[in-house]
Amino acid sequence: MVQTIKNSGLLKISVRGIVQGVGFRPFVYQLAQEHNLKGWVCNTSGDVKIEVEGESENLARFLTKLKETPPPQSHIDDISVSKQPPAGYKQFEIRPSLAESDKYQLISPDLATCDACKQELFEPSNRRYRYPFTNCTNCGPRFTIIKDIPYDRPLTTMRHFKMCPNCQQEYDNPLDRRFHAQPNACPNCGPSLQLADADGNIIPSNDAIASASQLLKQGSILAIRGLGGFLLACDATNEQAVRRLKERKRRPSKPLAIMVATLEQAREHCWVTSQEEELLTSSQSPIVLLKWKPTSSVSPEVAPRLKYLGVMLPYTPLHHILLRDTNLPLVMTSGNLSEEPIAKDNDEAIKRLHGIADYFLLHNRDIYSRYDDSVTMVEEGKPRVIRRARGYAPYPIHLPFTTRQVLACGAELKNTFCLTKDNHAFLSQYIGDMENLETLEHFEATIALYKKLFRVHPEIIACDMHPDYLSTKWARTTADKDKVSIVPIQHHHAHIVSCMVDNEVQEPVIGVAFDGTGYGADGHIWGGEFLVAGYHDFQRKGYLEYLPLPGGAAAINRPYRTAIGYLYTLLGEGALNPELPCLNTVGKPELEVIKRQIDRGINTPLTSSCGRLFDAVSALIGISRQIDYEGQAAVELEMVAYDGATDDSYPFTIETKGDIRVIRLGQLFSAIVSDLSQGVPADIISGRFHNMVAQMVSQVCSQLAKETGITTVALSGGVFQNRLLMRKVIAALDAVGLFTIIHSLVPCNDSGVSLGQAVIANFIA
Ligand code: ZN
Ligand code: ZN
Ligand code: FE
Repeated sequence: MVQTIKNSGLLKISVRGIVQGVGFRPFVYQLAQEHNLKGWVCNTSGDVKIEVEGESENLARFLTKLKETPPPQSHIDDISVSKQPPAGYKQFEIRPSLAESDKYQLISPDLATCDACKQELFEPSNRRYRYPFTNCTNCGPRFTIIKDIPYDRPLTTMRHFKMCPNCQQEYDNPLDRRFHAQPNACPNCGPSLQLADADGNIIPSNDAIASASQLLKQGSILAIRGLGGFLLACDATNEQAVRRLKERKRRPSKPLAIMVATLEQAREHCWVTSQEEELLTSSQSPIVLLKWKPTSSVSPEVAPRLKYLGVMLPYTPLHHILLRDTNLPLVMTSGNLSEEPIAKDNDEAIKRLHGIADYFLLHNRDIYSRYDDSVTMVEEGKPRVIRRARGYAPYPIHLPFTTRQVLACGAELKNTFCLTKDNHAFLSQYIGDMENLETLEHFEATIALYKKLFRVHPEIIACDMHPDYLSTKWARTTADKDKVSIVPIQHHHAHIVSCMVDNEVQEPVIGVAFDGTGYGADGHIWGGEFLVAGYHDFQRKGYLEYLPLPGGAAAINRPYRTAIGYLYTLLGEGALNPELPCLNTVGKPELEVIKRQIDRGINTPLTSSCGRLFDAVSALIGISRQIDYEGQAAVELEMVAYDGATDDSYPFTIETKGDIRVIRLGQLFSAIVSDLSQGVPADIISGRFHNMVAQMVSQVCSQLAKETGITTVALSGGVFQNRLLMRKVIAALDAVGLFTIIHSLVPCNDSGVSLGQAVIANFIA
């Protein structure tokens, strides 16, 4: 008996994870051949199933290699193996895929062009020379073309393209790099490009990319259809072109990302550390925020007043050819008007981007799911995802526990949603600002897709506490319709829990949630919060004192109003010196209106927001009086300061009311006003202010640590995209012996909120 098992046998194997669309079956096939094993491999809706039969030594080797050297783009979560009596297989084969109802598996994000495909692309003798839709099992579109699982060509937007004999041969040959590569295509049988003018009329061209490159070199703005939607491109060194693009997008100050042909070119414009290099060249190929060199030829208009530039490398063959042809750094920004979702269909783009693009580079491989470029940075030794989309979603965030099935609808700005099942949190790609019908439709369609792909049937719907958020209203209607319970979650609690999950921390933490706006449990706008929080509940233990936002949204868009409101409330009428930078352009009538609004509390919400505090200081010292993108005033305030500019700080008071601390800011404002009157430069004031915020965090947290015995501090909220502040806060907490956790795979801004909502709802509903 023992003897038979030792010499030969059959193993029944189930592999789960990202194992479809990444060359897993061909890998198994080759491995079985190499080890002289018989049997079969098959994709199902839930896993990859394998049966292998042969000598036990070979079986053991097969199993080791399966675990240790899987295809580069795969990600094995779990392998289960059972021994069975031999079945007498005669050969090894790949069996047709099996669809099983209610089984699901993980889906690979789209993958940047691999080296082998890149090489073919620029080899004149290759049949795919300059073919913009070249791909293989190691690279190419995945999630953006999938309509359902199992991942097979008929269930993708490639189903309309019938493979030519050459492509079919590659597809059928288990030893070929394109064996079962679902989007496999060539110039004879696959998708193709067309150039069109501003009105969508086709311009005949036998090399659309070469023509497009010429137009870009001449300063035109092109809308280019890519993987997850259209990108708007122009020559990043051409100031006029960049300015025109920004004016047409109606965001004159908002920074844009650029694409460069190679890593070497990235180094011409920015400093690139080895970790940043790794991220730039990864298969995710995200935008990485890099330190901008003053010698760079990229126009300052691309990211006005900023020290960092968003840079990415080409991630599709189309981009590789285009970048090589133009030999210029190109602006590449989402094809949309301000905050609408990225355009994905040809007709849609021609309509919505009319008046923005001078030309369109169209193609006929449909995009099933919109997908923006991801944005990342490397800080504190690790990649930090700020916008999570292409290359990351829909790969789930791992939960350190098993969850119920929850749909969490996220926040208003930078919305994402999150679906949970087993120990997976399917945090959606970046959806956008939920302020218009187009974004709501994108949100709904993407929820439907994720529910279908991952077979999730939510039993709980979680939403923000804010009654007026579009996502909250949608959640209420849907919960009513589907007869499931709805759980409103406090915004900052969700922020802190998202950071805990990102770090797989399950024990309660001290949470510092600093952001722009979040609906508070007391009806005020929160955003400068110290919580003691766990998955089940939270206690508010401290906050920045409440101050007025005269005109509500008007104050957010015009930070000088916030500055005036803070000065007037904290220091009185006498502090409104007309010489102050925040006041010298404000007319008397507007000033009177602001004062009256505050005196009578008309349309003047109270806030503890830390984002607004940054706005107020930025406007007070004359850096950003008005803004045209979220967070601009704070970002520009960060940019004038620098590491080591000053060790000085500003005063503040911690006032204790019962067991709640209120941070009083009067001394801070009078000290800044006094610095201004003495002509202290903005970099020093900004530096002192950053130091003060770090001191405040460490003092409050160390008091809370003494009170609760908790020594882990979680930092969350959009304010922590401020790299200078994050470093200073971590150093200050370290100095008082506290351990800090920060975000990595999950954005610290409102894109992470849905994950926190889902986890909390799972525990309290
Ligand atoms: Zn490839
Ligand atoms: Zn072909
Ligand atoms: Fe927030």
